[in-house]
Amino acid sequence: MRQILKDHGIQLTKSLGQNFLHDGNQLGRIADLANLSTSDKVLEIGPGLGPLTEVLMKRVGQVMAIELDRKLSDVLRTRFEGSSSFSLHHVDALHFLREKAHDWTGWKVVSNLPYSVASPILVELASSPMPPSQIVATLQWEVVKRLRAKAGTKDYGVLTLLVAQRYQTGAGFKIPANCFFPQPNVDSGCLSMELRNPQPVPWSDLQTFQTLVKLAFSQRRKMMVKLLRTRWNQADVEKAMGACDLPLSIRAEQLSLEQFVELMNHLGA
Ligand code: SAM
Repeated sequence: MRQILKDHGIQLTKSLGQNFLHDGNQLGRIADLANLSTSDKVLEIGPGLGPLTEVLMKRVGQVMAIELDRKLSDVLRTRFEGSSSFSLHHVDALHFLREKAHDWTGWKVVSNLPYSVASPILVELASSPMPPSQIVATLQWEVVKRLRAKAGTKDYGVLTLLVAQRYQTGAGFKIPANCFFPQPNVDSGCLSMELRNPQPVPWSDLQTFQTLVKLAFSQRRKMMVKLLRTRWNQADVEKAMGACDLPLSIRAEQLSLEQFVELMNHLGA
């Protein structure tokens, strides 16, 4: 890997989260988690030099890759351009996902995500009107803990809920730092997230749900009722909380996904 980077004059950029996974065993485990078949279409965000891409190409029918770094994109193009099942977008993945509503029906996302933008990318995918059926992502272990967090714990918050309204977390595993080059100074792991069916928040209510959750957690230690009145009428908030059997003293971190959805339904847009 070091030699390829040297040959192409590539200097690694810390801000782009360029920690490349070089351990074949871990790459195989990531692909296994996605339960891939040749009929699958996979989106890979941040393929880097393409070690995971190569594994994916052997297992699925189509790989779409999005890589921001120009030199890495050149390497990927040279490496995979012969294959009609590979396409590459040299753009910022966040811009790509936000610029228009893509139809990800029938797609899976399998990626070693750039850690600096992993959370907004997951939220963006979970906010899509036509989301991918599964996301298998390598993430900072702190983020894995937040995605898996239960109500009432310190890791539970906005990220947990904005992703959980679309995806339930499945299997996952830790990946030792020495499997990456250069080694990250945080713990890493891979997590599978599967699309919920039925979805607890209809797409038409998603903006209201996001506003509710962000406002409720805007000051974690404060009573939720006080935070919500900047957006909803105080009397309406109290009535909705009463209808949901929620005490007025409750804080956001104590509410489950189901309770947030019920509260949203009583509050209205
Ligand atoms: N998948 C490769 C691997 O496992 O070796 C590389 C993963 S590395 C953690 C993250 C990759 O995402 C880097 O190649 C980096 O250039 C790319 N990247 C960073 N920010 C990005 C963005 N906003 N959009 C697309 N790619 C990005």
